[in-house]
Formats: sequence, C-alpha cells, structure tokens
Amino acid sequence: MTESTVSLFEKLVQADPPDDVPVLFDTACVIGGSIAGLLAARVLSDRARRVVVIEPDDISTETGSRPGVPQDQQVHTLLPAGQLWVERWMPGITEEAQDRGASFVPDKGVTAINGVPQAPDGEGRHLLAIGRPLLETLIRNRVTAMDNVSVLRGQATGLQYRDEAVSAVRYVPTDGGDQGDRGAAVLDADFVVDAMGRSSRLSNWLRQSGYDQPRLERVEAPINYATALFERPVKVADLEKVGALALFAPQYPSSGVSVAAAQPIEDEQWIVMLMGYGDSRPGRTIGEFRQACTKLPSVFTTATAGAAIGDVVTYRQAESRRRHFAEVGRFPARLVSVGDAVASFNPIYGQGMSSAALHASCLASYLGGGPDLDTAAREFFRLQQVVVDAAWAVSAGGDAARLDAQNGTEVPDEVREQRWAMEQITAATLFDGEVTRAFNNVSYMLRHPATLADPELLARAVAAAEGAMADLADTTIDR
Ligand SMILES: Cc1cc2nc3c(=O)[nH]c(=O)nc-3n(C[C@H](O)[C@H](O)[C@H](O)COP(=O)(O)OP(=O)(O)OC[C@H]3O[C@@H](n4cnc5c(N)ncnc54)[C@H](O)[C@@H]3O)c2cc1C
Repeated sequence: MTESTVSLFEKLVQADPPDDVPVLFDTACVIGGSIAGLLAARVLSDRARRVVVIEPDDISTETGSRPGVPQDQQVHTLLPAGQLWVERWMPGITEEAQDRGASFVPDKGVTAINGVPQAPDGEGRHLLAIGRPLLETLIRNRVTAMDNVSVLRGQATGLQYRDEAVSAVRYVPTDGGDQGDRGAAVLDADFVVDAMGRSSRLSNWLRQSGYDQPRLERVEAPINYATALFERPVKVADLEKVGALALFAPQYPSSGVSVAAAQPIEDEQWIVMLMGYGDSRPGRTIGEFRQACTKLPSVFTTATAGAAIGDVVTYRQAESRRRHFAEVGRFPARLVSVGDAVASFNPIYGQGMSSAALHASCLASYLGGGPDLDTAAREFFRLQQVVVDAAWAVSAGGDAARLDAQNGTEVPDEVREQRWAMEQITAATLFDGEVTRAFNNVSYMLRHPATLADPELLARAVAAAEGAMADLADTTIDR
C-alpha cells in the first residue's frame, strides 16, 4: 500500500465540496433512488441543468420499508465518514435527524468483544442510530427539494449509446396502471449513474452491447440477520447504556450469535439485531429473540423488555461482492456506477452507506478535475477503487481470515503476519485507548486501513494485548 493511496483516501474523506463549479451536462440520469443514487444526484445537481432519478418504487411521499431496498428493516448505522459527507452535502441534516428522534450513540464502550467493552478512544465520535427508511427519507427530501432534481417512476431496462458514450436510458414506467400495457420509454441523458444496488443489471447491459463487463469478485460470508423493534419507555438521556455493538468469537457461548446490536431510534423504539454465520439463525421468533438476548450484555435484555413492535424480520446474504470497474477495457464514456452496485460488503461492518457517500465524493472530485467526457470515466473508477479497496480490506479481509481459520486453510506468510497483527490490535482495543482510536478511525472509514500497519502502533498493541487473548477466550460477559 503506497503512502499516496493512504493520503488520497483521506483526501476523499476530508475534501470540501466544490463551490462555484461549471455546468457540464444538460441532463444527468441516476438509475436507483436509494442512498447511493440520492447522494450522486446531489453531486450532479451542481453539474447538470437537470438531474433525473429513475426509481421503480413510489418515493413521492415519506416511505417506510419499500420493495426496492429489501434490507431496509435491518439495523443500519451511519458511520462518522458517512455523517461527514451527508452533512457537507446537506447541512443541518443530522440535527434534523435528531429532531425526528434519531440518536447519536457514543463510542465509549459501544463495542464489546465477548462482553468486554473496548477501551474509550477519547475522540468522542458518534454513530448515528436511525431507522434506515427515515434516513433515506431525510436525504431524499433534501435532494428532491433542489430545483433541478426530479424523480421519474420507472424501471430502467437498458442503455443507448452514441460515439462510444452513453446517450440515453431505456425504462418502463411503474407509476400505476397495468405495466404490461406500457411500452418502454427513453430518457436522453449526457451522463448516467448506475445506483441499482447489489442486483444491478449494468454488467448484463454492457455485455449485450459488446462492452466489457467488470470482473465480479465474491467472498463467501453467509450471514443471517434477525432484527426486531421494541417499545422504549425510557428517554435516551436517561438510559444507563445508550446502545451496544457486541462481537463474539466463534468459541464463545452466545447461542450462535456472532454479532448483536441494540440502538435507540426514532419513535421511542429500540432496534435490536442478532447475527449468526452459516447455519446459525438466532432469534426467529420474538420469544427466541428475547431468550438469546438474556445471554448477551444486559443492555440487550433492557432493549427487548418493552412490547415488541411487529415480528422479527430476517435477512440472509451469502457473500460479499465487488465489481472491478477500474480494470475494464472497452467501456462507454459518460457512465459510472456507485454504491452497492460496485461493492456490497458483509453488513456487520456498517460500511455500505458511508462507502456510497465516499463514492459521491469521488464523483465530485472526478467532475471537478476537468475530465475528458468523451472517454470512459477511468479517473473516477481509479478514485473509487481506493475507497472500495479500503472498505473491502476491512470486511472481506475479516471474512477470509474467519473462513481460513474455520477450514484450517494454509495461507502465505505475509497474510498470516497481517492477520496476526490485526488480532493483536483488536485484542488491544479492550485495554488501550490509543489503539482503539486508531482502530475506530479505520472502522469508521475516516482513515485508511494501512494506517494500522504502523510499527509503533503494533508494538503498543502487542504490549497491551499480552494476556488479552487469554481473557478473550474465557471471559464471562460483563453485564
Ligand atoms: C442486512 C444489512 C444491514 C446493513 N447495515 C448497514 C449499516 O449498518 N450501515 C451502512 O452504512 N450500511 C448498511 N448496509 C448496506 C446498505 O444497505 C447499502 O450500502 C445502502 O443501502 C446503499 O445502497 P445503494 O443505494 O447502493 O443500493 P440499495 O439501497 O440497495 O438501493 C438500490 C436502488 O435501486 C433501485 N433499482 C434497482 N433496480 C432498478 C432499475 N432497474 N431501475 C431503477 N432503479 C432500480 C431500487 O429500487 C433501490 O431503490 C446493510 C445492508 C444489509 C443487507
């Protein structure tokens, strides 16, 4: 990892949004009106006379859960890097979220490993705890309130090209009526963003038109999420513990729960999530859910004590995926892809929405750099790769290590050493605030993972981790 990659990543995190920028496009089209698409639309609103977001779901009013985002009832946390960018593009939105009942979960003790809370890191950073539909609604309200942004209700079905560049998007309207009777329509566009999420069809469309498909990389990460909502009679300010993220080593007796989270969110609710790997499917009924929580730190019993609101909602995902757009050969100009359409990770790391925010930062940087719009957006994909590599190193790296350990797979010395170093750092976060700060900055996507390879930090971690490994193996939960 070169120093320039680290500083480029941090520039993309810290850069101010450009001001006073020239308009480059007449019509920019964003396909997909979820978090990544909305943030891309926000960037393009500075660069296009009009921005049209094509989205099949009805998002004209405040939405709850909706079909296009099947994961939206699961617990979603906005990491500090995502908060930074969302606030930069839409000043005041985090305060608005709090006014609507979202809360900031302080990092002090928020993460516990086998019941042992991480040492406080002293930075006072917060995770934004909010229902995913509310967060999307707040972002959408801001973006669609812009004079030049509109939403077109439809399902994109393909692209049209002229002179090796995208020139239009084909779509089928979905705004009511019998869709079978509705012919495909075409929207002319001089810049197109694919924000169709994990199941994006873009690769197929490219192949059908003779362009190169990005290589698809997969890492097995079979996760089973179960999330439930409970009434919260106590105000956030009066809570003894404001939420928790608990991680458990495989050998730890936690009823098959590998990760659990409890967060106070809007409407006086707790949102509580239990996650198991592989065949472990913790808490499929409210009774099972509560039972599993009794074996976790006490905040989980508190959070599940109120009346349940609805049933347990489950979500299964088999793998993390990324598409390597930076490698493609023949690729049309005026086309980029963002968000989960490019990389969708093991969600326990909470990186998806913050990655989407950083992809928007890449888009702003690319468009601000005076790009040659008659050639493929390679500079955009180069910037985006820095962001995806960083997030992938954390989430897929962790999964690969877990799988190799589980299967007893031999790995090269270099990889073994990296994993050993990461184990020392993780264990040291339970005892040493400085190591926790470095680790959290990477987890929160504020700093590049390569910053954890600092020899001084590692020496400090090794010293702090002495004895911690044993504690990790046989601690009892700190209730
Ligand atoms: C269980 C789970 C938990 C998660 N927890 C977190 C978390 O804690 N923190 C976090 O940051 N991230 C989390 N994520 C990831 C997060 O959900 C995504 O990264 C985030 O939603 C951004 O995705 P997106 O906008 O790229 O795609 P999506 O949110 O999947 O949206 C895709 C959009 O494209 C639309 N679309 C699809 N096809 C078409 C088409 N043909 N034409 C037009 N529109 C189309 C869909 O209707 C939808 O609106 C989690 C994910 C999962 C699965």
